[in-house]
Amino acid sequence: MYTVTVRRRQEATGRSSLLGSLPRRGFAVALYKKGQSLNGINVFLKICTQWTEKQTKSALAKARGACFSALLMPKKNTFSPTLIAWFKKIQRPLPWRQDYLPYHVWISEIMLQQTQMDRAVPYFERWMDRFPTIASIADAPEDEILKYWEGLGYYTRARNIRKAALVICAEHGGEFPAEHKAILALPGIGPYTAGAIASLAFGLDVPAIDANVERVYARLFDIDSPIKEKDAKKRVEALSAELLPAGQARDYNQAVMELGALICTPRAPRCESCPVAEHCEARRLDIVAFRPVPGKKKDITPLNVVCGVLEHKGKIYIQKRPQGAVWGGLWEFPGGSIEAGESPEQAVVREFQEETGFQVRIADKISIVRHGYTRFRVTLHCYFLQADAPLPPSTMSAADECLWATPEQITERAFPAGHRKLIDLMRQDLRFSQYI
Ligand code: SF4
Repeated sequence: MYTVTVRRRQEATGRSSLLGSLPRRGFAVALYKKGQSLNGINVFLKICTQWTEKQTKSALAKARGACFSALLMPKKNTFSPTLIAWFKKIQRPLPWRQDYLPYHVWISEIMLQQTQMDRAVPYFERWMDRFPTIASIADAPEDEILKYWEGLGYYTRARNIRKAALVICAEHGGEFPAEHKAILALPGIGPYTAGAIASLAFGLDVPAIDANVERVYARLFDIDSPIKEKDAKKRVEALSAELLPAGQARDYNQAVMELGALICTPRAPRCESCPVAEHCEARRLDIVAFRPVPGKKKDITPLNVVCGVLEHKGKIYIQKRPQGAVWGGLWEFPGGSIEAGESPEQAVVREFQEETGFQVRIADKISIVRHGYTRFRVTLHCYFLQADAPLPPSTMSAADECLWATPEQITERAFPAGHRKLIDLMRQDLRFSQYI
């Protein structure tokens, strides 16, 4: 019985009325005196009528904390060793797990924020063949780094890798810093990545909390508020710190993440194969499907856009997006949004003219490409264009560079996902494959 039932007690009459309950189990009402520290199973909470909202919230938070202590204590001795033993048995042989070099852990962690483990391995190997050291990243042009990141999305992360490499070379003599604070100060490295690098590469006792870890703790400890909100986050942080066994952060952090990735998955978790099922509150209460509590869903915005592939004298016009814009530094085929009342055909001719100054006509419709990024669902209408008159130099009103490209030059450059999909489609289409 771990229930905390919260009642408001009238001082004058001694009567109390029910306000609600914290983690819902059984029935336990008693008295919690302000400031009293609790670690028992039955938590007694009094809310005085004259308390301000802030005082009431603080009392509730203390009661919640007491509940967690009660839940945590029996788990502490067996939970972490069981989980670590399971991880040691099932862990997958991955290139960055051979020696846990800080540079390898760093790059793998950034890649794994974009993609599944299996897909990340070939990207990682290709990256390490080309950039075997941190100095080799610092020396490489941004274009090439973006090319090696192509397909992983979120290109800011690739740019930040380069920025961090420059800082490491300038301020740390080319060696990855070993202190948690210094890791956290590098460009593009947030609390999760810093925790992962500190614990995996340097064995520091620092938690690494990603979405997998949040989900696992939300289920194991029946966290009943939206997992992305402050209250739940604080509880996950406290649990991670409390359960992490000293000196074993590398194995423990990976074990929790791996549990989330392989067993305690977002949909249809495999509780029957879970090594810590006996510790799981959500399973015991049969509410696994309701944990974690979802937050407010982000609105998805549909976007209808056009792009044009202009062929002239056997070459294709491409341009480089301006630094600072979305996908800055990547190459693209000119285009943009369809305006109200416009057809896609009118939009592509107008956009091309605005961005390059070229007068073009539609020679063929290529296809419609659908893809999503952040909170947008994009429908990209793609056209093959030609020009009848000789072309002047491009005005480049929405680009930093431009190029009349051969197929080889197109292959060498990095494009956003939608345009890369378009290139792949054109290469399989006999109408266009000779040009691209
Ligand atoms: S028992 Fe099920 S819900 Fe609980 S931690 Fe294991 S897989 Fe997740």
